[in-house]
Amino acid sequence: MSARRDTPPPAVAPQPPVDEGPKITRTDCDRCGTQVAGIDGRYACGVCGWVNHWSEGHRPLPTAEADVDCPGRPGAAAQRDR
Ligand SMILES: [Zn+2]
Repeated sequence: MSARRDTPPPAVAPQPPVDEGPKITRTDCDRCGTQVAGIDGRYACGVCGWVNHWSEGHRPLPTAEADVDCPGRPGAAAQRDR
């Protein structure tokens, strides 16, 4: 019995779309034209200081409650008041 070398490689199954979290996106600065990278459509230009409006982001911003330092969140006060 010999190993067959003409076996095609296993087909890669198409992956279902997965929410992978924040994405790095790029655009041209509205003020100076420099290509800037941002996260989910939110940009700040390091050359001229331009920032786009938060509402232009591709997904909603996290709420205050999602912040690990949010007052009232369990454990937040204990870490800060030392
Ligand atoms: Zn700029």
